[in-house]
Amino acid sequence: MSFKNLKGQDSAVGYLKASLLNNRVSHAYIFSGPDGVGKRLAAINFAKALNCGNVKSGEPCDQCALCKRVDSSEHPDIFLLRRGKEGDSIKIEDVRALIKDAYLKPFEACKKVYIIEGAEYMKHEAANALLKTLEEPPADSVIILLAENTKKLFHTIVSRCRVVKFFPLKLKEVEEILTGEHSLSQAQAHTLAHLSGGRLGEALKFKEEDIFTKRSLLIKKIVSGSRADFDFDDIPKEDIRIYLDMILAWYSDILNMKAGAEDYMLVNIDEKDIISNEAARLSFDHIEDIINSVISTMIYMDRNANQKLAMSVLGMKIRQVGVCTK
Ligand SMILES: [Zn+2]
Repeated sequence: MSFKNLKGQDSAVGYLKASLLNNRVSHAYIFSGPDGVGKRLAAINFAKALNCGNVKSGEPCDQCALCKRVDSSEHPDIFLLRRGKEGDSIKIEDVRALIKDAYLKPFEACKKVYIIEGAEYMKHEAANALLKTLEEPPADSVIILLAENTKKLFHTIVSRCRVVKFFPLKLKEVEEILTGEHSLSQAQAHTLAHLSGGRLGEALKFKEEDIFTKRSLLIKKIVSGSRADFDFDDIPKEDIRIYLDMILAWYSDILNMKAGAEDYMLVNIDEKDIISNEAARLSFDHIEDIINSVISTMIYMDRNANQKLAMSVLGMKIRQVGVCTK
């Protein structure tokens, strides 16, 4: 996977290539933008381009032993530091180990590269330790912080790094990539493009996670109206966010259809018959009530609330409201 596999980020890639070609590489970068738009892929390719012996126009060759070892995370001078799991912080001991290593000579590369994913999840102590390193940068190292939003990082850290911005793709572009390169139907591509909000990596993750099977089960639960089927507390923790996104998209579709939206505006375009039935069955107030509850649940989950309880309350709300006919 090289820079040319990175879709829709021409401005960021152009900037990185230019800094290589002009020999203006900084000791520290922040790649900022939503998850799933290619920040990690860009960082890995930048690490390759900094060290590959066959770089052409800022593009690593992607074929040599070095490029292949970086791709398979086997190069001793290229490091990716990430959180253990959702909700965790970047560990201070990992940051300290990284800093210690950064001042040592590379084993074989020209530049050691340290990629810190989810940099906004560094706590005060870790951020402070890193700041000292950014103030006195090691000669042979490049540190790349990946973050959704620079506003969540310490201002002092941001001011010591070059910020490279990454953006979501247009929905139409994501659809074309999904149908053209990943064999999805037009309707499936449409749903994934909308659900991912133009984040291609996220759309591909949804595909890998067999989201359409999950969505079918969810719709069955919601539409059946049976008390037992609204037991959302059995959803695995790692799937909660995508289920919440799907529930939100589902009721937004119902609301939009009730308000007279065109088909192409629906996320779940292939389920428009069920959406139409639900739009006829539920009142505006009921639908908006559920949407507000889903948004509240998302906020609770972001605050690390009790997952089982929050999902159980949401399930109850959908059942209570959802079965009323108006
Ligand atoms: Zn190479």
